[in-house]
Amino acid sequence: MPIQHPFRNLSMSIDSAILAQLRRILGRENLFESMEKRIVYSTDASKAAAVLPDLIARPTSTEQIAGILKLANSAGIPVYPRGAGSGLTGGAVPVRGGIVLDFEIMNKVLGIDRENMTALVQPGVITQNLQKHVEKLGLFYPPDPASSDFCTIGGNVAENSGGLRGTKYGSTREYVMALDVVLASGEIIRIGTGAPKSVTGYDLVRLFVGSEGTLGVFTEILLRLIPLPEHVETVLAHFPQVECAAASVCMMFSRGITPRAAELMDELAVECVRQYKDSDVLPREGVFCLFEVDGPRFAAMDESERVVRICEENGATNVARATSEAEREHFWSLRRAISPALYNLGRIKLNEDICVPRSRLAEMLARINEIGERYSLRIVNFGHIGDGSIHTNVMLEHDDEALRKKGEQAVGEIFAAAVSMGGTLSAEHGIGLTKAQYLGKEVGEKEFSVMVRLKKALDPNGILNPGKFIDVFPHSQ
Ligand SMILES: Cc1cc2nc3c(=O)[nH]c(=O)nc-3n(C[C@H](O)[C@H](O)[C@H](O)COP(=O)(O)OP(=O)(O)OC[C@H]3O[C@@H](n4cnc5c(N)ncnc54)[C@H](O)[C@@H]3O)c2cc1C
Repeated sequence: MPIQHPFRNLSMSIDSAILAQLRRILGRENLFESMEKRIVYSTDASKAAAVLPDLIARPTSTEQIAGILKLANSAGIPVYPRGAGSGLTGGAVPVRGGIVLDFEIMNKVLGIDRENMTALVQPGVITQNLQKHVEKLGLFYPPDPASSDFCTIGGNVAENSGGLRGTKYGSTREYVMALDVVLASGEIIRIGTGAPKSVTGYDLVRLFVGSEGTLGVFTEILLRLIPLPEHVETVLAHFPQVECAAASVCMMFSRGITPRAAELMDELAVECVRQYKDSDVLPREGVFCLFEVDGPRFAAMDESERVVRICEENGATNVARATSEAEREHFWSLRRAISPALYNLGRIKLNEDICVPRSRLAEMLARINEIGERYSLRIVNFGHIGDGSIHTNVMLEHDDEALRKKGEQAVGEIFAAAVSMGGTLSAEHGIGLTKAQYLGKEVGEKEFSVMVRLKKALDPNGILNPGKFIDVFPHSQ
């Protein structure tokens, strides 16, 4: 009896001559075709789709990747770059079969230049490993996705990932100085520079950062580092309403404070965490905000006192400053518990990451609640509100087609509202597969056609990560 599984099998039965050439390039030990491996690489954290790739290639060098792409390009075989598969929009799902390029063993920190404060890394380096490595040297790599203990730098660059410290330090893009990229043709290019400033020609680094594996494959990445802040202060504030939290964040900026983190947990998120942690300590009503400020010790302590006062001025009912590392860890554990805790509300979550100008946060959150009530859906909001990002999670109790359709309609309305307030569909998770149908709400037809022309110029045969946003025509829907 053949094994039954819920995966789509698009096997394109790769030609035996090509298979032999791939084995020559990679060695037998780094090319996988077993059903077990194919199942493992068929999906990602989005669970948006599960499609079996034909092969999994685990290259060890830029030259091997160039060889694989040259071959795939001439034979029209799709190639899917993949880091840790923690993406939330289906970016690494091999929706058209073909070859998954897995960077698991290209995971070395190749060098740290302490004088010029840069790190040269391979794409498979786990983000947190790099952070810990440089912090031992008194240096700091600020981008900090909540998935940093398992996601990779290559994936972060491809998604232009943000994270918990983005309010003050920005996204991955701000730290990428140069890239080695293999194009679909197998050509290797080196873009960017180690110089602190450069305006030589078009800024190709900015084009490739955030390109979601559709324009080229990154094989070496030069990152900017900064000095490690001396001291961090953490404050947990409880507000009766979300409007008070949003007003506090705006007031901090207007008074010259840029918190490095400002994380919101709305009422439903708090309720989920309360149940998940079986904790009566968390109040039944109201919302939480977690703030962090950093810098020289006394400046950070002074800023955290001002953060406390601003929260109180805006109606916070309880504000606590962490007095020990254990307490700080406890505060963060509440924030980290949200993602798993959400499954108490439903088996499926339609997880989005809109972003609006900070001044529109309260209005946006009110609109999301109104949409949730109108559709009779529970929508949980949390995220990095310091930079206007809200992770909206439309929770579906079960996987039912009609319910999913209703959820998607609600998501469509949330996106339209965000764009109408001068915001965006995606602050940091990318478009990938799951948001492709909505892209037209933000990107105009002419602008999308420029993107398509860029894609065609760099990947005329469409072998790099096909089936994702750039292959879906949002304006014809
Ligand atoms: C619990 C959880 C929390 C998260 N929190 C955050 C957060 O706070 N902020 C945030 O921004 N994201 C967050 N994410 C999303 C995710 O972790 C990020 O998008 C991350 O950057 C993906 O990295 P990855 O290594 O898993 O990449 P993958 O998921 O494997 O791939 C993502 C995309 O990158 C492409 N890619 C990977 N490597 C390369 C390469 N070398 N060259 C070219 N393209 C490549 C892939 O083709 C794919 O399109 C979270 C995810 C989870 C599960």
